[in-house]
This record gives sequence, structure tokens and C-alpha cells, in this order.
Amino acid sequence: MASMMFTDCSSSTTSRLFHLNRRNGTSLLRQCVGQLRFQTTASGRGCIRSSSSPISAISADTKSEGAATVIDGKAVAKQIRDEITIEVSRMKESIGVVPGLAVILVGDRKDSATYVRNKKKACDSVGIKSFEVCLAEDSSEEEVLRSVSGFNDDPSVHGILVQLPLPSHMDEQNILNAVGIEKDVDGFHPLNIGRLAMRGREPLFVPCTPKGCIELLHRYNIGIKGKRAVVIGRSNIVGMPAALLLQREDATVTIIHSRTKNPEEITREADIIISAVGQANMVRGSWIKPGAVIIDVGINPVEDSSAARGYRLVGDICYEEASKVASAITPVPGGVGPMTIAMLLSNTFTSAKRIHNFQ
Ligand code: NAP
Repeated sequence: MASMMFTDCSSSTTSRLFHLNRRNGTSLLRQCVGQLRFQTTASGRGCIRSSSSPISAISADTKSEGAATVIDGKAVAKQIRDEITIEVSRMKESIGVVPGLAVILVGDRKDSATYVRNKKKACDSVGIKSFEVCLAEDSSEEEVLRSVSGFNDDPSVHGILVQLPLPSHMDEQNILNAVGIEKDVDGFHPLNIGRLAMRGREPLFVPCTPKGCIELLHRYNIGIKGKRAVVIGRSNIVGMPAALLLQREDATVTIIHSRTKNPEEITREADIIISAVGQANMVRGSWIKPGAVIIDVGINPVEDSSAARGYRLVGDICYEEASKVASAITPVPGGVGPMTIAMLLSNTFTSAKRIHNFQ
């Protein structure tokens, strides 16, 4: 099927894919403006919103060469971190509580160690205390469960994150289910996902990456209600919760997956596209309705001999083509990626607020 063929749409490189851990993808960066207030948004409790409209300031100088506005995830993430920094210090001054995030790392995967280090750095940058347990690759599931349980009971810990993937001898579900729902800042607990899916119910936490996608739309004042949205990908951690979030915001949502027959045709009807597939440059310019808004979650390494590491990262969307058709688009890197850690910090702060009844 011609529409399912994809190539690296940049002519200067080949598109051989490298294997990367897909669970996370982060880097981090702008200035907080205006007076701050906290709101509960449909994308999950406790998104921090500025009372001014910072994004009009950001978008003014981020027009791409084509038609599309570049949705600057680095800048928005920096803004959110600045907002959290202010609120964390207000909490500490008012009630003497410092929010805490605990990360459990099992094994010695270099990529996982890097993600954990980045999370710790991000916590430090906003004044959130970080706790870390590193267990050997051959640890038993019981040892991991003991660490989870210890953090569940520790009042100075408000969020618990088990770095994935876990070694193959462990039951990931079992371990994730052991995280107390009130500290499940990753939002992967089935109760949180179940509540997200149900009308009239509120999850305690929304998974960070999809929450970051919706937050980008909010901060760029992009309307969702009544829009036709297409989510490409249906994973538990990105695609499925992203579709649920869009639906909660009254979009009409279609999900495309690997068995979908006519993805190009369906995608072309979308006002908003969120793509979380993991296929470099799969979505071409011809798939996109003029004026659509594109959020590209995909992080795909493609060979690039001109890059110092021999590869560079591209999204699922052929940026070069799409940016000429869309009205707004996230770049890769620098779009959704930085938002994921910002949302983790936001979820951790929200948790501390809830636990200590801090307004
Ligand atoms: P995943 O678990 O592998 O899910 C991929 C989804 O894409 C599946 O639902 C799959 O369909 C669908 N799919 C695969 N090939 C397809 C095709 N040719 N056409 C249509 N659908 C197709 O991946 P994930 O964890 O959701 O991650 C997706 C991408 O987002 C990856 O590139 C990952 O690195 C990136 N990511 C980024 C961040 C961030 O912070 N920016 C965070 C997480 C993930 P089936 O269900 O039918 O198999």
C-alpha cells in the first residue's frame, strides 16, 4: 500500500532506524510571565496555567519558514518548570513541605540511567526532592516490591516512578500495580487509566507524555472542542490516553493503529493529529489537511553521518512536508519530549498539594 511506505523525507540522510528505549524521551528549556494560578484542566488535575497568555509571546518569533507555527515544547516546558519552582517554594514557606519524587531503577541500562539522571536534575531545578533506589539487574521482584512499598509508606515521598523497562524476569504489571494510586505520578495504574476513560470520573494522575501533548494545545490556545482529532498509535502509555484526553475535551476522535486500512485517508480529515507510532517520517505532507495542528510524539533515530553521534532524531511526521501544510507543528526534538519531564514534575507537585491539602 503506497500510503504505508515511508522514507526519511530529508534528502541528505538515509533512514536506517536505530533501536532506542521508547519509554521515555527527554531533554529540557524560557521565562515565566505574569501572575500564576493553578487550575484543574480536563487533561488532568493541577496543570499549572499562567493567567497571562505566554504563548502568543512565544509563537510570535517561532514561525517556521513554511506556513506552520512551531509549537516550542522546550520553551513551554521551561515556563512550566519556572511556574512549579515558584509554587514549590510557596508550599515550603507556607506549610514547610517539600514535594518528593522517588525513582526506582533496576539494572544497568545506560539509557535508563540517563533518564533517571535527567529526572533528578529536573527535580533539583524546581526544588522537588528526589529519592533514588538502584537495584542490581538480578534483583528479585520481591526486592523491587519492597522498595515500592517503602516509598508508599514514606510521607516525604509524593510520587513514585519505576523506571521501565524492568528486567525480563520481573512482572512489570505486578510492580506497577503495587505503586499506591495516590503516588502514581506516571498515571499508569489501571485505576487512573480507568477513571480517565470514564465520564464523570477524575484520574488522580494523567500519563505524562499525553498530558504534555494536551498542555501544548492549551498553551498555544488551540481549540479542541468539536474538532476532528486523529491519534496514530494506541499504546497504553501514549496513544490510548491521548485519545481519551482529546475525547474528554470534546474532540471527535479516531484512533489509527497498525491494522488500520486507510490511515492516510482518515488522517487527512483531522483538524488535530497526535502521532505516537515510532516510525520515522511515516506521515507525509499528503496525509495532512491544510491548516491541521500536528503533535508529533515519535522519537526515531535515523542514520546521519554528518551528526557527531552518527544519527539524529526525527518524528513520525515528515516535518519538512508537514510544516508547509499544517497551521502548527511540534518539532522533534524540542516538541513533546521536554514536556514529558515537565508533566512529571507537575504531577509530583499536584500530588504533594493533594496529600497536604495545600491550596
Ligand atoms: P508502541 O508501544 O510501540 O506503540 C506504537 C503504536 O503505533 C501501536 O499502537 C502500533 O499499532 C502503532 N503502529 C505501529 N506501526 C504503525 C503503522 N505503520 N501504522 C499505524 N500505526 C502503527 O510505542 P509508544 O511507546 O506509544 O511510543 C511511540 C513513539 O513515541 C516512539 O517513537 C517513542 O519513542 C515515542 N515516545 C516519545 C515520548 C516523549 O516523551 N516524547 C514518550 C513516549 C514515547 P498496534 O497497536 O496495532 O501494534
